[in-house]
Amino acid sequence: MANQYIIHYAELGLKGHNRINFERRLVSNIGTALSDLGDFKVRRFHSYIMVAAPDEAPTSEIEHRLSRIPGIAYFAPTTVTPLDMAAMTEAALDLAKDTIAPDMSFRVRTTRGNKQFPIKSTDVDRQIGGEVQDLTLARVDLSNPDLTLSIQIYDKAYLFAQRIRGLGGLPLGSSGRVMALFSGGIDSPVAAHLMMKRGCAVDFVHFHLLRGPEQIRNAKIVTMARQVLSPHRTPSRLYMVSAAPFEVAMALLDSRVATVVFRRFIMRAADKLARHRRAQALITGESVGQVASQTLKNINLIAQATDLPILRPLIAMDKLEIISLAKKIETYELSIQPYKDPCSLHARRPATWAQLKDVLAVEEAIDVDALVEETLANHVEEIRIVFDEAPRVFRQ
Ligand code: ATP
Ligand code: MG
Repeated sequence: MANQYIIHYAELGLKGHNRINFERRLVSNIGTALSDLGDFKVRRFHSYIMVAAPDEAPTSEIEHRLSRIPGIAYFAPTTVTPLDMAAMTEAALDLAKDTIAPDMSFRVRTTRGNKQFPIKSTDVDRQIGGEVQDLTLARVDLSNPDLTLSIQIYDKAYLFAQRIRGLGGLPLGSSGRVMALFSGGIDSPVAAHLMMKRGCAVDFVHFHLLRGPEQIRNAKIVTMARQVLSPHRTPSRLYMVSAAPFEVAMALLDSRVATVVFRRFIMRAADKLARHRRAQALITGESVGQVASQTLKNINLIAQATDLPILRPLIAMDKLEIISLAKKIETYELSIQPYKDPCSLHARRPATWAQLKDVLAVEEAIDVDALVEETLANHVEEIRIVFDEAPRVFRQ
């Protein structure tokens, strides 16, 4: 029989209509994330989801993918039996034989989601635990066992010896859409990932100094956006915006506030693109004090260039924590590859405490609003990021 997984999500705070939407979205996201591995059956039940994997799909890959899908609290490869003590015992012994050695301790832990089932969970624990002990000669330890054999009773019984932690968070798409300001650095891919984990669908915007469609399409930024999306395999858009008109306008001004002016310029342009995509917030990889443009004063000046909320999931994180997450989501190696970001140009002697009046003076000199218009009208390349297979989902 094909491998089956039981999937549990954190239900706290989920009620009524919200909950149905959450579950449906999670079912659909799981189907999409696994779609290229074969024909999976993903079904929603009252408080859990079941995934039946086709024989050809490699277990390690399935589990790796499930562990990166937002909204899953934990999942487990499971044996399914009818609600019948003899069948449950047989399945428990089968599991125990492969997982419990005589020098180990174990416990059986039953939860009864279906109160129609006539035997109390503690009685199931005791009866089946006794049989397992007879077979394995292992010791029972109720508080700190080496292994917990779980039995979950719903419309059927689900037995498993190993539970795998999920990513947590909320199903992608359940929290609306956001626009991530995406640079070539380490931070912004981590910021985008964290917002996806909280259920936001993410589009990306990057300001570059590349030339021609070829260079743009081959830029590492495209690969990085793909990498951030890859656990989900959901389509998204990346707006590649040339910062060349801005650089030309700034060329004759040797300004110490240039970094702040640039960041306000990209906020203005990102704001317009976000509204075009009905995105409800902008995301940045800013973290307090990390670089000159990220003093509280400058963060504030930059934020004033847009009315959209700016979400900064990394604001209180240390660089080392961010790097460790970047490694986990496999963007770190791409981030450290050399890349000429427009920011690097005018950061020679940046003011850590820019004054609004100096910033406004420069913005007037370059006619920033017209510059944003011109840039968006003539210097944007929209890249659609898609993953090859169409999603194949079986919904209940
Ligand atoms: P990162 O590692 O994400 O590049 P950083 O530490 O280099 O961040 P900054 O260069 O000050 O810090 O950028 C702060 C944030 O501003 C980035 O995380 C990103 O959200 C946004 N940003 C900076 N440069 C660009 C760019 N060229 N295109 C789009 N967004 C950018
Ligand atoms: Mg950067």
